Amino acid sequence: MSLKYCQGNKCHTYKTKDRLKGMQGSKTYQTRRRSSMYYGDDNFCSMNCWNDWFNKYGDQAINHFGRVKEVKHLTEENAWVKDYDYNWREGTTSNWRFVNKITKEQRPLTESQYDDSTYTLNTGE
Ligand SMILES: [Zn+2]
Repeated sequence: MSLKYCQGNKCHTYKTKDRLKGMQGSKTYQTRRRSSMYYGDDNFCSMNCWNDWFNKYGDQAINHFGRVKEVKHLTEENAWVKDYDYNWREGTTSNWRFVNKITKEQRPLTESQYDDSTYTLNTGE
């Protein structure tokens, strides 16, 4: 099991018991390490750490990857979303499908097509 570091730039500044680590007498508050993080696509240990990062780097990240500079419109061409049915009693999934949020048209999907984040019917943004 490999541990990941919380990417929060201030994680070590939050004085919680679980962050206090090291040899007796020389303990320091440290960045959290976990096998999985719960926030920000598995990168941050808490909403606080996620917010800290975004407040410091969010503007740069948006500029780097492309700032939205005009209104986008939901159209038939970009309204396809993936959906599936979940059986709460049995804990099983089935009926993977594309659903067009405008036309309500449905088209069947395989589970692996559902899991493939690059597979889409959308032809526009
Ligand atoms: Zn953190």
